[in-house]
Amino acid sequence: MSSVLPPEVEFVKAQITGFDFQTRSVHTDRGDFTYDRLIIALGSQPATFNIPGLSEHALMLKSLANVRAIRGHLEVALSGLSATRSNPYPIVIGGAGITGVELAAELAEGLRDLVRAHDLESEALKIVLVEAAATVLPGFDQKTINEATRVLKLLGVSVRTNTAIERVEADRVWVKPIGSDHPQELLTQTVIWTGGVRANELVLNSGLTLGARGAAVVDGYLRSVDHPDVSVVGDNALVRDPRNGQIALPCGQLAAQQGKYAATQILADLHGAVVKPYIPHLDGLLISLGSYAGVGTVGPVWVRQLAARVMKIGAETRYLLNIGGVTLVLARGLLLRHEFVALTRSLNGMQRTPQAKGKGRGNAVA
Ligand SMILES: Cc1cc2nc3c(=O)[nH]c(=O)nc-3n(C[C@H](O)[C@H](O)[C@H](O)COP(=O)(O)OP(=O)(O)OC[C@H]3O[C@@H](n4cnc5c(N)ncnc54)[C@H](O)[C@@H]3O)c2cc1C
Repeated sequence: MSSVLPPEVEFVKAQITGFDFQTRSVHTDRGDFTYDRLIIALGSQPATFNIPGLSEHALMLKSLANVRAIRGHLEVALSGLSATRSNPYPIVIGGAGITGVELAAELAEGLRDLVRAHDLESEALKIVLVEAAATVLPGFDQKTINEATRVLKLLGVSVRTNTAIERVEADRVWVKPIGSDHPQELLTQTVIWTGGVRANELVLNSGLTLGARGAAVVDGYLRSVDHPDVSVVGDNALVRDPRNGQIALPCGQLAAQQGKYAATQILADLHGAVVKPYIPHLDGLLISLGSYAGVGTVGPVWVRQLAARVMKIGAETRYLLNIGGVTLVLARGLLLRHEFVALTRSLNGMQRTPQAKGKGRGNAVA
């Protein structure tokens, strides 16, 4: 961590346990820290909407640790499957927002390898993407929704929109079509929840004024409306775009922007200067759909397929450059390597062919 921070910044690894805004202190497992100005950037946690069994039995996708847990879980669950199973084992993903759609596409591509590694028939697994709204990517424009739906279908993902996850048990999940009184059960131990986020528990319990998603309501300068010496940024902040009053999307791009803005605003305060109110600015929004495809916008331009995927890699690389310079890009190069390899293959015309029956689900996206 210290390698990406300037020398003026002292990094302390500690678990924050609470705030006292009256005494201006932050409680942590390494003692209390007092502050003159505080920026809260604790990130969000999965929102489970009190769906019975979800917290206990579903896997979450929020951190690298979660990713490792999903991988470990799949290894165990699939090694217990019978090779001669008659029905495909459903890997259920709850919530078809950006995270759920990206995960479904990525997993669908990986199914062929999973099947092979576990000596299963190619039709032994299927990805079921469950979404309560009428479409995947609710809130997006119709063109983007159509493209994502098309690619997911091509990848063999079973998309069940207008369907809510009702209850999760250790060995099954109950889903209910909206408007129906009859839940249906899917026999699976694998439910991955990507249905939304809410503010960090510490923010929820902080006593700050909260709004949608439990995020702290901030003024135009990203300061808590209760304590002007406390700025809140990222997923924990309820930020409104002053141009139209709309709530800004909780996403990495805006979180990074808000972090910078809060620092600038505090420095301006210290120097008796004034900054303009914060205006969220999205350069675009790109959604990856496996290794070969994507969809979204870059500025005013709508992109899809390989161009969108390449741009998404570009955006990720730019993010790494911004926070850690070339060193970080090179250090993280290995992580991104599979994406470049996939793209190179694709550019060389080595894309896998569209799903042939009985040949697994790894597909090219044309
Ligand atoms: C799977 C996935 C894919 C995503 N893809 C994209 C994308 O492509 N583009 C995009 O713009 N956004 C994406 N997002 C959203 C993006 O990651 C978040 O919006 C962004 O990271 C929020 O930034 P943040 O600074 O508020 O919180 P975070 O980045 O979550 O950082 C919060 C930090 O606080 C630490 N923390 C939490 N609690 C404590 C505590 N008690 N004490 C000390 N430290 C603590 C956490 O460990 C973490 O390091 C994705 C999210 C997920 C889950």
